[in-house]
Amino acid sequence: MSATSEPGAQPVPALFFARVERRYRQAEGNLEILRGADLAIWPGELVALVAPSGAGKSTLLHLAGLLERPDGGEVYVGGQPTAAMADGERTRLRREEMGFVYQFHHLLPEFSALENVVLPQLIRGLSRKEASERAGELLSFLGLKDRLPHRPAELSGGEQQRVAIARAVANGPRLLLADEPTGNLDPHTADHVFGILTALVRASGLAALIATHNLDLAARMDRRVTIRDGLIEQLG
Ligand code: ADP
Ligand code: MG
Repeated sequence: MSATSEPGAQPVPALFFARVERRYRQAEGNLEILRGADLAIWPGELVALVAPSGAGKSTLLHLAGLLERPDGGEVYVGGQPTAAMADGERTRLRREEMGFVYQFHHLLPEFSALENVVLPQLIRGLSRKEASERAGELLSFLGLKDRLPHRPAELSGGEQQRVAIARAVANGPRLLLADEPTGNLDPHTADHVFGILTALVRASGLAALIATHNLDLAARMDRRVTIRDGLIEQLG
């Protein structure tokens, strides 16, 4: 479908915001979050979204993840305009092209680490054998080879978050969106999980947009952007 890897094809951003507007209606007038924001994220790029609480990081990630629609402008995913797409088509694009990691792991408590990574692949139509193999490889890459049968409650916070990362990339998305993925971890564990996340993104050629408060972690990404006065600005 999207033409990011066809030989000789023009490169296409994994994610492209063109003059995106988003506002929330409030009793005392509109709350303007984005007022014409532009952003391009290319395949293989790891981009930090660094901004204070309330600046609109989660809103931006919801727009990128097609969970909200812009009030103006266009959001392109793999070169496809999405603003006017039907809900079903947006859902399909989200499932096939994107992975999400949140601050809290949202793993299924009754299922093992392995099963949590197998399930999205079964939903996608893989055989149990194929899905289990891939889940085992991913979890091993993330340093969880010895934790496959454990349920989330039997794992540490850092381990839970690594399973959540494996689940997010289980179906081979082109775009990883993460909303403060290490925000709930102590600094040492956050650093460790982040290092593994970075290695995984680099090994897989994914594009990633990661909201974080942590400037040390942000410094290790390819690029940093922020939200200022409703626009997305490069931080260098
Ligand atoms: P961040 O993730 O950077 O902390 P958010 O994107 O969650 O910021 O929120 C940006 C601003 O928009 C905040 O002031 C928040 O209260 C407001 N906001 C977020 N979602 C809604 C909503 N559904 N309705 C009204 N206001 C919202
Ligand atoms: Mg947020």
